[in-house]
Amino acid sequence: MKMVTTIAEVRAAVASARASGQRIGFVPTMGALHDGHASLIRRARANSDWVVVSIFVNPTQFGPGEDFERYPRTIDADLDLIRAQGGHLTFVPTVAEMYSEPLTTVEVAKLGEHLCGKSRPIHFRGVATVVLKLLNIIAPDMAVFGAKDGQQARIIRKMVRDLNVPCEIDIAPTVRESDGLALSSRNRYLSPDERAVAPGIYRALLQLKARAALEVDVARLESALYAELATLPGARVDYARIVDDEYLQPMTRLDRPALAAVAVWFGGTRLIDNIPLP
Ligand code: AMP
Repeated sequence: MKMVTTIAEVRAAVASARASGQRIGFVPTMGALHDGHASLIRRARANSDWVVVSIFVNPTQFGPGEDFERYPRTIDADLDLIRAQGGHLTFVPTVAEMYSEPLTTVEVAKLGEHLCGKSRPIHFRGVATVVLKLLNIIAPDMAVFGAKDGQQARIIRKMVRDLNVPCEIDIAPTVRESDGLALSSRNRYLSPDERAVAPGIYRALLQLKARAALEVDVARLESALYAELATLPGARVDYARIVDDEYLQPMTRLDRPALAAVAVWFGGTRLIDNIPLP
């Protein structure tokens, strides 16, 4: 497994893999890798011949006062994990390699209006822009994103469709701890007390799923979900919403595929999770 830091090096390495007829897979990450990322790399391995992983804590997707500066950076352990999962190339660019000012950006229509887009207004513009840049740099045949970041995965899928990017987008299931907490690089910020309570997020989503088998009124389902999350000691609910699965817009009745998505603060740590309905 080779690590490179420049766009020219990635392009040269990918070109030589492609010249030998290999199908290129890609897994973009911000590092601080865990078993969720490992599952994405395994999936890329299973669906391609030569896998590129990127590690880039992307400043343009963090708003003022968010955790860009203190986002965990664990490059040596990350490279070990990528090697162990059989990744072939890791791209670790600097901010200067990726950006020059003023920056052209990508705004994906509609799907960023609600959920995390409401609380983090510039977030998805930063995500879409950096992912499009990475797809243009690497030119993979397929790229894997996690269902845990459900809004992000749908935004990327729409961007790729709308802008005719020749890359298949694969969405991999959320990997959880045995107590149900979705793995996240931010879980390490949780205090022991917060960590003990945090699996209640997934329990609330499972409870909602069971309730949704008997109830189709979205307002009632959302208030039940919100109330359940609000009982978790130390939790402050950012949002608890049910939106249509395609455009992520509010709905009144559960009459088509939907996504229940939540964001919950524990102290200074914001955790997200989601579950498809029905
Ligand atoms: P991040 O490094 O957190 O930006 O995430 C990089 C990729 O890993 C994104 O596509 C995430 O959706 C995915 N990911 C993060 N956590 C998980 C998880 N628990 N299960 C599956 N995929 C995940």
